[in-house]
Amino acid sequence: MRTVDVLVIGAGQAGLSAAYHLQRRGLRPAPTTDRDLDDQVSTPHTASDRGLTYQVLDSEEGPGGAWRHRWRSLRMATVNGISELPGMAVPEVDPEEPSARFITGYFGDYEEELGLAIVRPVRVSRVSRADEDPHGRLIVETSAGTWSTRALINATGTWTKPFWPIYPGQETFGGRQLHVADYVAAEEFRDQHVAVVGGGISAVQLLDEISLVTSTSWFTRREPVWRDTPFDARAGHDAVAMVEERVAKGLPPLSVVSVTGLLWTPSLLEAKARGALDRRPMFTQILPEGVRLVDGDVLPVDVILWATGFRAALDHLAPLRLRGSGGGIVMEGTRVAEEPRVHLVGYGPSSSTIGANRAGRAAVSDLVRFLDDG
Ligand code: FAD
Repeated sequence: MRTVDVLVIGAGQAGLSAAYHLQRRGLRPAPTTDRDLDDQVSTPHTASDRGLTYQVLDSEEGPGGAWRHRWRSLRMATVNGISELPGMAVPEVDPEEPSARFITGYFGDYEEELGLAIVRPVRVSRVSRADEDPHGRLIVETSAGTWSTRALINATGTWTKPFWPIYPGQETFGGRQLHVADYVAAEEFRDQHVAVVGGGISAVQLLDEISLVTSTSWFTRREPVWRDTPFDARAGHDAVAMVEERVAKGLPPLSVVSVTGLLWTPSLLEAKARGALDRRPMFTQILPEGVRLVDGDVLPVDVILWATGFRAALDHLAPLRLRGSGGGIVMEGTRVAEEPRVHLVGYGPSSSTIGANRAGRAAVSDLVRFLDDG
């Protein structure tokens, strides 16, 4: 079993920010091979690092986190805006470049330049307590063996946990159903009628591009909320505060768009003008040939694209029983209120690139104090 003081799970924006701050605080890579163990014994610790170690485990084959999987047509011009990683400016952006390629390159350069301790591909399957001692160790089981750690920064994002709602008749559908996590490009739907379900940013962006090549219908449970004021720093602050309040009460975090609203862009205004954003209330049933509308009519549909969001990827933490009666995890900042060894970054109020950066710093600062006390 490998031992470490702080284990970070996930190397997207949140995990990289945490790794950067751990390294700045003087934590060194944990030995991952027997050769490293020998080197560590022969290398004296500097006063600043107090001998503490960290390691990042990431299930991807290479850098980029979830950005590696964003659909091809999501370009730097169409993302909402990317916040730079701590300590390295975002290189000059070609607005036409796919975000998957650009960000994978940026993250890769970052990891290399800073020499961050990341092991890939390693999937964490289970985190449990070694014993009931609140300052005891956590046992982390992975696809590459077991780790024992004093503290954990969980930065696993949401991409690996797409949310598919359950609708009557879903299993009888004769066409194709997919989630936005599986979307590649609009071209694959040419000459088919596509029903897009969901009221978020992905739904409207994909309706925009799919409606340029084929016919679409848009279904949402509630009337979509469009913003009529710009999304400025103040609005961002208010949105984050709203989610913070929820997770401090142990309620599950809300989707981003439910607190920010949908923003009109020139492209979406064009989509609106061609009728692609005429929303229908959610259908009542899925049939082999289509969907039943609220008025009882049947709309023939070839494809149902579920743009229904994602949930926090926390299944591996289930043995810790962190969820409370509100269905969420009671948080104090990035720290789990009931388990001070565990921080969640990129969760709830920090699930944006800027929020992930801040959460990484906050988690490290809290954990270094915790480790010093322990
Ligand atoms: P991720 O980037 O998802 O990284 C998590 C990492 O953890 C991944 O590498 C994953 O493989 C790994 N992992 C997961 N589970 C395990 C496990 N069990 N074991 C080991 N490793 C694991 N935000 C913005 O600020 N601006 C935008 O323009 C923007 N656009 C977006 C567009 C889309 C389509 C979506 C879905 C989200 C967008 N977001 C945007 C939100 C964005 O996802 C976050 O801002 C941020 O990139 C998430 O970073 P993260 O580090 O939390 O997660």
